[in-house]
Amino acid sequence: MFGLLPQEIMKAAVFVEKGKPLELRDVAVPQPGPGQIRVRVKACGVCGSDLHASEADWTPRDIIMGHEFAGFVDATGPGVTRWLPGDRVVPLAQISCGRCPACLANNSSACENLELTDYNPDSGGAYAEFTIVGELDAIAMPEGLDFDEAAAIEPLAVGLDAARRARITAADSILVIGAGPIGLTVTQWARFFGARDIVVAELNPARLEVARRLGATAAIEVTQDTDIATAFEELTGRKPSLIFEAVGAPGMIQRCIDMAKRDSRIVIVGVCQQADSFEPKDCILKALQLIFAYGYTNDDYAYIVELLGARRILAAPLISHRVSLQELPAEFEALRNPTDQIKVIVRP
Ligand SMILES: [Zn+2]
Ligand SMILES: [Zn+2]
Repeated sequence: MFGLLPQEIMKAAVFVEKGKPLELRDVAVPQPGPGQIRVRVKACGVCGSDLHASEADWTPRDIIMGHEFAGFVDATGPGVTRWLPGDRVVPLAQISCGRCPACLANNSSACENLELTDYNPDSGGAYAEFTIVGELDAIAMPEGLDFDEAAAIEPLAVGLDAARRARITAADSILVIGAGPIGLTVTQWARFFGARDIVVAELNPARLEVARRLGATAAIEVTQDTDIATAFEELTGRKPSLIFEAVGAPGMIQRCIDMAKRDSRIVIVGVCQQADSFEPKDCILKALQLIFAYGYTNDDYAYIVELLGARRILAAPLISHRVSLQELPAEFEALRNPTDQIKVIVRP
C-alpha cells in the first residue's frame, strides 16, 4: 500500500441537504478495497446535474458529489495490476465489480454490479481531495493533456452520445438551441462529423463566442422576441434537418416541434426538471423523429481522451472559471443564477 494512513483526513465539499449550501468538511480519506484505486483529484467540473440534484427531494443527504474529474493514482487496493501510484487518469465516478461479463469485456460502465460514487453516502465523488474508483473505471491520460481539460471530458461524452444518436451526416443543417456545456459539445461534435450548417441559438453573447470557436457556422443571439426559425432560414437559406434541444426548459420540446420541417429529427439533451407537454399530432403530421439522448461508455471516454490528446477536439474553450475547494460552496450557489459561466473547474 502507498499513500496516506487510514486515520488521515481530507477536505471535501459535502452536500448536507436540500436548501443548504455545500459544506466544507474534514472527512476520512477513503481506502481502496480489492480491485480499487484511490485518485488524488486535481480537477473536477461542476455539473448542472449536481445543481439540479441539490434541489431535488430524491437526493441522499451527506454525500460528496462530483463526477467530472481527473487526477493521479495515489494508492492501489489489493490485486490491482493496471495502475501504479503517480499514473495520471481520467476516471468515471463509479466502482465496477471487475468480475461480471461486461467488466471482463472491458466495458465496466455496463457492469451488472455497478456502484456510482457521487450520489452514494457509502463512498463519495470528486468534490474532495481523494476519491475511489474501480481499476477498470479509469482511462490513462496522454502526455500534453492537462487535468483541467481532462475534467471537461464528461460533457464531451454526453455531447458525443447525442451526436451519435442523431446520426449526423454532411448533408445536415443543424440548429443547436442552448450553448451551455452540452450545447457547446454538441456543436463541436457536429463540426467533427462534418455537418453543413451548425447554427447555435443562445441568450448569452459570451457563450455564443465560444460556440463560434468550437465550430458554429453562425450564431443567433436570442432576445425576448427572436423568431429562431426565421433567423435560421435567413442565415442558411434552409430549414434545419436536425435540431438539438439543449436548454431543458418547459415548452422547449414543443417549440422545437413547431420549428421543425417535415421528416426532420429533434434530439433532446436538455433535462427539463418538471412535467412538460407537447402535441403528438404535430409530430405525426410532420413525421418527426424525437430522440432522447443519455449515456456514455468507457469506450467513449477512451476515444475522447485520444482525440483530446491529439488536439482533434478541444476542451479548454469550455472552461470559463477555476475555483478552489474552499471557494466551491459559494460558486455552487452562484451557479444557480448563471451569468457567463460555462464549465467551472474545482481544483481540490
Ligand atoms: Zn456531469
Ligand atoms: Zn462488473
